Amino acid sequence: MGLTGIQILGKLPKKNCKECGYPTCMAFAMKVAAGQAEISACPYVDPKVVEEIAEATAPPIRTVKLGGGDYVYPIGGEIVLFRHEKRFENPPPLGTFIKDSMSREEIDRRIGLYKRLQWERVGVKLYPEVLYVEGKGSNLIDLVKRIREELPWVALVLSGDRAGIEGAIKVCGDFKPLIYGAKAENFEEMTSLALDTGTPLTIIGSSLDELSQLAERAIQKGLKDLVLDSCAQSLRELFEDLVIIRRSAIRKRYKPFGFPVITFPYRYTDSYLLESSIAGLLIAKYASLVILSDLRGDALFNLLVERMNIFTDPQKPLMVEEGIYPINNPDEYSPVLITCNFALTYFIVRGEVEGSRIPAWLLIKNTDGLSVLTAWAAGKFGADSIAEFVKRCGIEQKVKHRKLEIPGYLAGIKGELEEELPDWEILVGPREASGLPALLKKLYAELQEMKKAS
Ligand code: SF4
Repeated sequence: MGLTGIQILGKLPKKNCKECGYPTCMAFAMKVAAGQAEISACPYVDPKVVEEIAEATAPPIRTVKLGGGDYVYPIGGEIVLFRHEKRFENPPPLGTFIKDSMSREEIDRRIGLYKRLQWERVGVKLYPEVLYVEGKGSNLIDLVKRIREELPWVALVLSGDRAGIEGAIKVCGDFKPLIYGAKAENFEEMTSLALDTGTPLTIIGSSLDELSQLAERAIQKGLKDLVLDSCAQSLRELFEDLVIIRRSAIRKRYKPFGFPVITFPYRYTDSYLLESSIAGLLIAKYASLVILSDLRGDALFNLLVERMNIFTDPQKPLMVEEGIYPINNPDEYSPVLITCNFALTYFIVRGEVEGSRIPAWLLIKNTDGLSVLTAWAAGKFGADSIAEFVKRCGIEQKVKHRKLEIPGYLAGIKGELEEELPDWEILVGPREASGLPALLKKLYAELQEMKKAS
């Protein structure tokens, strides 16, 4: 069981010195109890107490960190069964595999995919983050050397013999890979390697019973950073295993299952379409790492977007800052548009304006991250608040015309807004952002005529 804020406060020195970044020891204790601060941030707590509190306040599923430097990928760390209870914490890295038995061309192709398959959506970079590398001895070491040089941002899962994995771990240096893995046959060898090198280790069981026994033994040996693979024989069994592992860890605090889980959707089908559908299921319930048989842009993009949606905090809307956003170097005769600060709306509108190549001023009004119609219904994007923002934001000093385009969904407030902003002509834009370029082109032409006449 976790500790309460009061119990944690009892173990603090109560200097109220603020060195932890909080105004009082009490405030700090509450944050530690809520899992929002690390007890080690207080420099005056005895290391033994730090360990005791860190243990008691740790999430029921351990956070295991792969990678290093600018590319750290935490996996696990989950505290709830269902996203609506709080949020899911760490999105599962996605990727495919490379084996030393593959042809040179195939290895080149797969490395090339990691360089090419990258996207940006609502300001977030989406790309495959993990690569499973399988090989023996010096072949594995050479492969890992090449991958580290060419794909330095990609986390690695290493599979092979002890000599190969040990050499590859040395190549990785501070960039932590994951060893795959320790099963009944090689348990002593792989657990010793993980202990000696301080590298996270996958425990592979042929059933849930065996998995829990091996994980228990690994914990007793002193290993902390484990990842689980139940080697389910069918999709149904895999799904059941994942639910049992997550439930046992969170509801029962069952230690041997309190670790992230690695999954391989291609084990259950030869069809890539079905494989990517299975991956979609596993992202939601409850994979911590997903290794696909290959990377195909159309499927991967959809999986990454699904993952982004599931792993956003449902209590915090994605939003951008209120303000004036110049796009394509606008001047005093460039169109002015306004919309809400819901991040998805902002990036879609911005993308259409950028794509049109027409210089424009995009006004973003703070609607607490609500979309246009929701914000209007909540009284955050009505005529009065838009007018107040237009007067306050400084756009009147940036342009010489007075034409303001509002979202098509706000057509109903045009008259009211004209009363609130008598100097402005209010233009109703399209309902869908895809209609913006045509409208902007027309408006820009009108404004250029006005510029010539001035
Ligand atoms: S650093 Fe420690 S002693 Fe100082 S305020 Fe924070 S918790 Fe209290």
